[in-house]
Amino acid sequence: MSAEPGARNSVSGSDWCWAPTRQAIYIRDGRRCLSCGSRCKKLSLDHVVPRCRGGSNAPENLVTLCCGCNTWRGHRPVAAWRPELVEVFAAAVAKPLDREAGRRAAARKRPGRLEAKRIRDARRYMAPEQRWPETAGVPF
Ligand SMILES: [Zn+2]
Repeated sequence: MSAEPGARNSVSGSDWCWAPTRQAIYIRDGRRCLSCGSRCKKLSLDHVVPRCRGGSNAPENLVTLCCGCNTWRGHRPVAAWRPELVEVFAAAVAKPLDREAGRRAAARKRPGRLEAKRIRDARRYMAPEQRWPETAGVPF
């Protein structure tokens, strides 16, 4: 996993979808799981047509599911998993994306736990001279 700015083309972890686009899709879908209606904080993007069946990473192929429903569905086609959701997904992806709202939401988002830990570690290991110039040369 990588949180570097250039990571939008990465396909690992949760970085495969550019954060502002991810947020715009969550907003489009009402920030809730389209399967169970959960508004849990751990929402995820689900491919309407799974990647392994040729589906793309475009917003028109992505819907919001909670992690539990995403795992439950697995790689099954929607019709084989929950046929009643075919229309729900179709209606969701037909809605326009508010990319500006997505950008704002992504900018507001606090760093994730892993990112926060990296920031803490970076501060901890930063040279003491940089933190407290008056202690330059004093061994800790
Ligand atoms: Zn759910």
